[in-house]
Amino acid sequence: MNKQEILRIQNLHVNIDNKNIIKNLNLITNKGEIHAIMGKNGSGKSTLAKVIAGHPNYIINNGKIFFKDKEITDEEPDDRAHKGIFLAFQYPVEVPGVSNLDFLRLAYNCKQKKINKKEIDPLSFFDLVNKELRKIQMDPLFLNRDLNEGFSGGEKKKNEILQMSLLKSELCILDEIDSGLDVDALKNIANNIKNFANQDNCIILITHYQKLIEYIKPDYVHVMDRGRIVYTGNETVASNIEKYGYEYINTK
Ligand code: ADP
Ligand code: MG
Repeated sequence: MNKQEILRIQNLHVNIDNKNIIKNLNLITNKGEIHAIMGKNGSGKSTLAKVIAGHPNYIINNGKIFFKDKEITDEEPDDRAHKGIFLAFQYPVEVPGVSNLDFLRLAYNCKQKKINKKEIDPLSFFDLVNKELRKIQMDPLFLNRDLNEGFSGGEKKKNEILQMSLLKSELCILDEIDSGLDVDALKNIANNIKNFANQDNCIILITHYQKLIEYIKPDYVHVMDRGRIVYTGNETVASNIEKYGYEYINTK
């Protein structure tokens, strides 16, 4: 069976404030794959994630981005989200005054509308969201709380997983979803990600740590340095980086 391409990034160059952050970056991901991206602080990982999601502050000076064979280089972030691109932030924002449940239903119905499907009423949505909550073992009480307000690090990250599960996004980019988590929370999030991954979606995990890679066993591990992917391998690269530091890549 042929691989079905989800994301293709060709010769990408990105600037912010006239500073060149991403240089000649190429990446192809297919359905059913999990890709990890590692790299030192400041190597451009979060920038890449935000550019794929369409963040308006970043200027693409060169190169193209395709999602399922259609070019999206100049598309609005909303349109990308509705097409199935999801970005879980490194630091999810707290939004006092907006309940988690209302937020989730709004996000869900926005997508339904965009893809010409029926919006869902509050009661049916409540059933749907509860099913997803059970899958990720999240307490239903979180639905009544304000979006991310006072959530612990682990709970915020879980809430991101809940959003991507509900939206059934085909391309999920998780930017340091493991940061600030204790061992148990990390295992739990890793399991949720593994359960979510299937033959119809693709996950890009951005992480500093080997632990998450050890749990999830991505198909590919890429290493970024100064705005480029300088190495692509499998999970063994992560354990070698853990042992020897990023210098390990230079010695290859
Ligand atoms: P990483 O996620 O790999 O740690 P980032 O993508 O956050 O790296 O940052 C890459 C580089 O781009 C860093 O040098 C950072 O200072 C710079 N950068 C990122 N965002 C901005 C911004 N909004 N304004 C100025 N410089 C930025
Ligand atoms: Mg980052």
